[in-house]
Amino acid sequence: MLRHFEKKISNIKEIKGIRIKTFNAVMIAAACLVFAALLYNTALLPGKYETLSEHTEEYVECEKNASELREASDYLTEQVRLYAINMNIDNMNNYFNEVNITKRRNHALENLEAANTSDRLKQSLKAALESSNDLMKTEVYSMKLISLANGYSDDVLPEEVRSIQLKAEDMRLSPEEMIEKGRSMVFDSGYQNAKALIYSHLDHFIDGTMTHLSEEQELVYSGLGDAITLQSILIVVLFLINIITFIAIYTLIVRPLTIHVRRIEENGMLEIMGAYEFKYLAITYNDIYELNAANQEVLKKKAERDSLTGLMNRGTFENLKRIFKESQSPLALLIVDVDKFKTVNDTYGHSVGDKVLIRVGNTLEKTFRSTDKIARIGGDEFAVVLTDIRKEDASAIREKAAEIGKVLSQSEYDIPAITLSIGAAFSDQGFHDKLFEQADKALYEAKESGRNRICIYEET
Ligand code: GH3
Ligand code: MG
Repeated sequence: MLRHFEKKISNIKEIKGIRIKTFNAVMIAAACLVFAALLYNTALLPGKYETLSEHTEEYVECEKNASELREASDYLTEQVRLYAINMNIDNMNNYFNEVNITKRRNHALENLEAANTSDRLKQSLKAALESSNDLMKTEVYSMKLISLANGYSDDVLPEEVRSIQLKAEDMRLSPEEMIEKGRSMVFDSGYQNAKALIYSHLDHFIDGTMTHLSEEQELVYSGLGDAITLQSILIVVLFLINIITFIAIYTLIVRPLTIHVRRIEENGMLEIMGAYEFKYLAITYNDIYELNAANQEVLKKKAERDSLTGLMNRGTFENLKRIFKESQSPLALLIVDVDKFKTVNDTYGHSVGDKVLIRVGNTLEKTFRSTDKIARIGGDEFAVVLTDIRKEDASAIREKAAEIGKVLSQSEYDIPAITLSIGAAFSDQGFHDKLFEQADKALYEAKESGRNRICIYEET
């Protein structure tokens, strides 16, 4: 039992395999980590979207302000030129209405100044503003010349025009010349160039700012793309963790469990498979199984064997008779009885009597073939079934009986000499119903005719 237990311990030490407990902990930790990363990344996404949409809005706003500025500027040019040609005071009012009330140009410029751009570009915007202010001075001066030439009184003129002091040489000009000069101031190449310079500063600012904004937009966009890619990777990893867990549950737990249950139902030993815990279970179960099988074997032997001589007992002999009834082969039955055994018991004691019985059993076993069956069927009574033997071979049996008699006629240590009486009967085909009776009759004859002999049953 101790050796068995030691073997079990060494087997358990050799078990290699994934422990369900460890696997479970690793998988839970991995899933939690990936899930936390997924949550964190998801939480960052709205912020990235917001920044992207802010940049897009800024981009659109910048474009809108740029075109507003151009439109307002073109509107002023248009009104000042219309005024120079038509001399309609409405055009002048429109001009100042735009400058002082609508202020599209100012609003657009204010917005552009606040744009997210470099200082270098803002310098271009400042230069455009300064050039624009200079151009406005030219436009207002032109309007003053035209208004004066047209004879408009000061009270119909806006403050900006009214407050302009004409240069001395312009004061000396005739009304036609004033109109001529006023018109040329807003139509000549100088005016065109000044306007072109403003647009060039403005274009430089707008193009640079737009490039800057689109670069930033690109950066945020690629950051957003990376975050979405990471999101997809994390989802795939989480999915893989699930798949690995399912496969592991099947191979480590479900499959071994199913196979173990089937093996237990079939009353077989368990296969060492699956997770560490299942291997441990299988080894422990197999050890108990082996122990149980060994115990059952011992119990079976005990039930079949005579405890004193180790030979077959009476019950087994009865079974043997049933088996040999089916046999087609010839056989012989000997019934062997110790002569005056009671006297042995009485003279030497019961334990010596036991030794005599053991010696008789051993001598029978040594003398007959291993294919012959020997049983102790009573106190001092033995039966021997000799297979494949015919009555013609009776002399061989007589020789063996003499051999046995010779051995037992000698005492051995404290075991006294004894003699045996043997009754024999032959059958041509298996163990028939009368065989035992015939051998018993022959034994009776041997006893009656003086013991220490073998008698063979003869049909009368
Ligand atoms: P016979 O020559 O007529 O056979 O005389 P016997 O004295 O041998 O008479 P019998 O065969 O009837 O006696 C059998 C004796 O065997 C009776 C019993 O006390 C004894 N005996 C039975 N079983 C055992 C046993 O297991 N051990 C011992 N020592 N004696 C036993
Ligand atoms: Mg006897």
